[in-house]
Amino acid sequence: MVLNAMGYDESDGKIMFKKDIYKIHFTPPQDPLFLRKIKAFQKLTKKLGGILFMSRYRSTSVHLLGGCNASSDPSHGVCNSKGQVFDTEAPATVHPGLYVCDASLIPCSVGINPSLTIAAAAEHVSRYLVKDVLEYKSKRDVPILVKTVDQHSCLTTDKNLRSGHTPIIVFKETLKGYIGGMPCTAYLKMKMNSQNQTDFDEGNPVNGESHPFLRGKVGGYVVFKSIEKDELHVIDGEIDLCEVDYRTPYTQYMHYRLLLAASSGSRYILEGKKIMHPFLFALYAWRETTTLHVTFKKLAGNKSQDETINLIGKLRIFMIELLKSFMSIEGNKRRFIYHLSQTLLRTYILRIP
Ligand SMILES: Cc1cc2nc3c(=O)[nH]c(=O)nc-3n(C[C@H](O)[C@H](O)[C@H](O)COP(=O)(O)OP(=O)(O)OC[C@H]3O[C@@H](n4cnc5c(N)ncnc54)[C@H](O)[C@@H]3O)c2cc1C
Repeated sequence: MVLNAMGYDESDGKIMFKKDIYKIHFTPPQDPLFLRKIKAFQKLTKKLGGILFMSRYRSTSVHLLGGCNASSDPSHGVCNSKGQVFDTEAPATVHPGLYVCDASLIPCSVGINPSLTIAAAAEHVSRYLVKDVLEYKSKRDVPILVKTVDQHSCLTTDKNLRSGHTPIIVFKETLKGYIGGMPCTAYLKMKMNSQNQTDFDEGNPVNGESHPFLRGKVGGYVVFKSIEKDELHVIDGEIDLCEVDYRTPYTQYMHYRLLLAASSGSRYILEGKKIMHPFLFALYAWRETTTLHVTFKKLAGNKSQDETINLIGKLRIFMIELLKSFMSIEGNKRRFIYHLSQTLLRTYILRIP
């Protein structure tokens, strides 16, 4: 019979690397309940008429935490609260781009099963990691600067991204309508040219590839109360305002693809297209450019009782919302409007594929 008693230790164990002998030395943490556990096991064994075998000198764990724990300074831990690894050779700095983002970051026993806490910590660290990667990409040829361990370093990175030389266009868009006959509103925030594609050849674009100013990332949320009580947050969204299908080269699409997450844990895909048909002398331009034909699907979860959802509908931008969108444009407004009107002109007036 296997006997198991659970508790948590003092979180004072130590893992040291002994440089002289190239070995890892481990001092186990103290377990204040250890003796009481042995006594309880002995009592049980005696009653059952058996013999007690147990781990020689310490408790064991399947919830290993704190191998590279977070701390306010390098003397008590390996990384800061953002998961950035301290550079012990240069005080108050971190190793750029080196993060801890798993169970080892958590400094002590959480007292309950830790998986969700570990996942939350990893998500928290990933915010800083992604900002680092974006900054690195935007300055491709520039070496990453060593950042000081500063509470606001993340904000500084963000500021650099927005100001600097990257011509990112940001604007908001609100779409309202019905999906599957049920009311739905999308509050979206677009970040065009977010990939900062400096290698795009304006004079000679690759096979139907739209200008980077017309492609971007989408954030924000969707309110669809008939499906989910709370807001559905966009966790990954992409937009292309000038997509062309090679089978219908004269038709231009504005393509939205959003991965949505609900607080219930469910995930949805909202995919939408505004279809701009040529040869109509722009008669329908207003209606076409402001109507998003959408499909809304639930992604299959692990639970077999999960119902499938597969709906279609239309979301529209109303005149007042469109004006608000134009007003909200941040960045190089002129260039964005220039590129957008160029593509509309090509489709509706010049009718060039
Ligand atoms: C038997 C058991 C039962 C558990 N039950 C629960 C439970 O019910 N609830 C709960 O909340 N927690 C439970 N846990 C604890 C939980 O599983 C762990 O705390 C959690 O998975 C740790 O997450 P992590 O990402 O830090 O590490 P891990 O999930 O261990 O991930 C580490 C990853 O790194 C990979 N890796 C290792 N070395 C290398 C290398 N050199 N190069 C590349 N990859 C490498 C590994 O293959 C692994 O995929 C249990 C653990 C065990 C062992």
